[in-house]
Amino acid sequence: MIAGILKEKNGETRVSLVPEVVKQLQQMSVTVWVEQGAGDNAFYNDDAYVQAGAQVKTAAEILAGADMILTLQPPSPELTAQIPSGKIIAGILQPLYRVHEVEDWAAKNITAFSLDTIPRTTRAQTMDVLSSQANIAGYKAVLLAAYSYSRYFPMFMTAAGSIAPAKVLILGAGVAGLQAIATARRLGAVVEVFDTRPAVKEEVMSLGAKFVEVEGAADASAAGGYAVEQSETYKQQQQQRIAESIAKADIVITTAQIPGKAAPVLVSNDMLDRMRSGAVIVDIAAATGGNTSATKNNETVHYKGVTIIGNSNLPATMPADASKLYAKNLFNFLKLILTKEGGLHLNFEDDIVKGACITHNGEIVNDRVKGMMQ
Ligand code: NAD
Repeated sequence: MIAGILKEKNGETRVSLVPEVVKQLQQMSVTVWVEQGAGDNAFYNDDAYVQAGAQVKTAAEILAGADMILTLQPPSPELTAQIPSGKIIAGILQPLYRVHEVEDWAAKNITAFSLDTIPRTTRAQTMDVLSSQANIAGYKAVLLAAYSYSRYFPMFMTAAGSIAPAKVLILGAGVAGLQAIATARRLGAVVEVFDTRPAVKEEVMSLGAKFVEVEGAADASAAGGYAVEQSETYKQQQQQRIAESIAKADIVITTAQIPGKAAPVLVSNDMLDRMRSGAVIVDIAAATGGNTSATKNNETVHYKGVTIIGNSNLPATMPADASKLYAKNLFNFLKLILTKEGGLHLNFEDDIVKGACITHNGEIVNDRVKGMMQ
């Protein structure tokens, strides 16, 4: 088996495999080809890959000769057109948001594995790219907010006067939200949190934050731990509670997402109008529409004294560690689908393989993707 790593495009700084993992793959009889400069933006240079046993090739050589393309971002339609029929691709392919591209992969008989659709189970934790990358997003969101904020985060009592601690509001206490709470608390802020899943209350409180409860959330127990859409009554009550908290907040970190759907708009223009001048919002959900009515993906918007940062790819601002963790996730997944001799072995009885495999043998085989197409 030859695995090829292409240089990511469109401002993506991360790389799908790091030299340390190249060595581990070789022990599984996998030869690694890396496109020249693929790891440069993540501070893994070609020499490091060669020392680990990889061969440096051109993109054309990799596309023609590798059996499996390892990627981070989904392939663009142009790249898909260049991938020969019958190849394997593995990455964060976001199939729930690009159903038409999935049809192209099936039509080209590409076997596609998407690490963002594996179940969120204990056994899958070592392969959970959503967690490893969201952890970075939550951490970086708070640092970015602190950097952009014109006041202190911690409380200070000085001879020149006292400074009150920053009030941070976090919407969504998934992986990113929990890391954002921990980071904001370490910087000395006072933190309030909303989530539709009451199950996170204890975790939130154990990190030293206040959990604001809204009664009547929809039961998400059948959704694999993910949030589901809420009733209109719940949404109205939640809006009212958020409006009360947001008027007092200095920093808001929004992380609420529903897989395969647009992010819920939790912060309306009315709420933005009532925010303190100088407040900063970092919207991690920007790529799927954002949690505020004014968010623009990959842009910073200034709305009546409030700065709204819509950076949806915060992991790319920490590419060395983000790539390292991603590569480990990928390696752990590859161990499941490759034999010791480097051959492909797919056990569809395994919920992780079944969850990750999107297209195979010319067909769309993933239940969640098929559900989106109905
Ligand atoms: P996510 O990125 O899909 O969403 C972020 C958070 O936003 C979630 O906590 C969600 O409940 C919340 N949210 C959605 N709509 C909301 C709304 N209208 N108002 C307020 N909050 C809203 O979440 P994630 O971080 O990817 O985690 C998804 C699930 O997977 C969670 O249950 C998490 O605990 C679980 N998980 C399990 C494992 C594991 O065991 N392997 C690992 C990581 C995450």
